[in-house]
Amino acid sequence: MSSIDNLVYFEDKKKSQNIIPYKVLSEKNNKKKKGVVILGATGSVGTSTLNVIRKHEDRLNLIGVAAYSNKKSLEAIVDEFEVESSVLFERDGISELEKLAVHPDADIIVVATTGTVALRAVLLALAADKDVALANKETLVVGGHLVMAAEKMSAGRVFPLDSEHNAIFQCLEGNKKKENIKKLLLTASGGPFLNKPISEFKNITVEEALCHPNWSMGKKITIDSATMANKGLEIIEACWLFDVNPSEIEVVVHPQSIVHSMVEFADNSIIAQMSKPSMTFAIQHILMYPDREEGVHESIDFSKVLELDFRPPNEEKFPCLRLAKESLIAGGFYPAAYNAANEIAVAAFLKNEISFNGIPEIISKVLEHTNRELPSTYDDLMDAETDVLIESEKIVRKSKFKI
Ligand code: MG
Repeated sequence: MSSIDNLVYFEDKKKSQNIIPYKVLSEKNNKKKKGVVILGATGSVGTSTLNVIRKHEDRLNLIGVAAYSNKKSLEAIVDEFEVESSVLFERDGISELEKLAVHPDADIIVVATTGTVALRAVLLALAADKDVALANKETLVVGGHLVMAAEKMSAGRVFPLDSEHNAIFQCLEGNKKKENIKKLLLTASGGPFLNKPISEFKNITVEEALCHPNWSMGKKITIDSATMANKGLEIIEACWLFDVNPSEIEVVVHPQSIVHSMVEFADNSIIAQMSKPSMTFAIQHILMYPDREEGVHESIDFSKVLELDFRPPNEEKFPCLRLAKESLIAGGFYPAAYNAANEIAVAAFLKNEISFNGIPEIISKVLEHTNRELPSTYDDLMDAETDVLIESEKIVRKSKFKI
């Protein structure tokens, strides 16, 4: 079934849709196990999702998994969980991944792929009334307008799996009145170079940048944490998820990664969400939503001294943060261009082709060359993304930061 077929089918159904009371919904959910599909099952979020499913096998049923190229790990998951449908999308192609996103037995699709590879899968899943648990930032940074439009027409919802956005989602539970919300406070660990003098930034090596103090993640996102581009992408993501303006988001550096984010309300009161730094908390919250069950990891031990620090971010040291905000304020295709430029710049840094400081330089140069309107269809959006990726590569090659 094509995306168009799905959308037409959905629109017809929407007309006759009744609102189901919450109690009936939750009783209905209890009757059968929730069918889970994981796109990007062999990465760090995929692995944490599997830990949650192992813990709650009575409530969750893994019915489909997709991985990019890690055949061995994918086969091990298929064997352990007796998964019926699996896709190795380097071999099977993107259409197979998209079929998995509309699997008839799936209730929720966990999107833990990198880049925009799963954007159309997300749109199809929503068109088929599936819930989508989004750990991937690029889907919203590049295609936020398409995803939010698809969610509006869907009986499914987009749930945030990124720890910060999940924290905000939890803080907003029961507090959703727009006029009551003053700002979203996105916490950031600050990465490995929080206390490094700016004068030493030019000598940062790939190995140093790959050493994150709190979180164990893939290479791309670890570098993004070191440059704070990750937080930049998260600001853009938060604007889409919670329908706020860039001015209503503040980044707060919090090196312990215990407070995962906060919401400040009109009366200056702040609600924070805390847990140990493990993705399993956010994943379990969404997979079991709205229920709470025993977690995979232990809770915080307040019988021991626990110090929590907060400080403002240093945008001079981390220009990727400022560039993300500027791209968001410029609007249109700029956030997508920011993301594409960052992707190319990080890949070049990982190959030792540019320096650490070269990453924001490349992004800045690409943004200078961007003057494009935001395409309104998936195909045009992907064409525009390809153009800006190629443009970014050209700028990397010409860059004086090339080493
Ligand atoms: Mg995050």
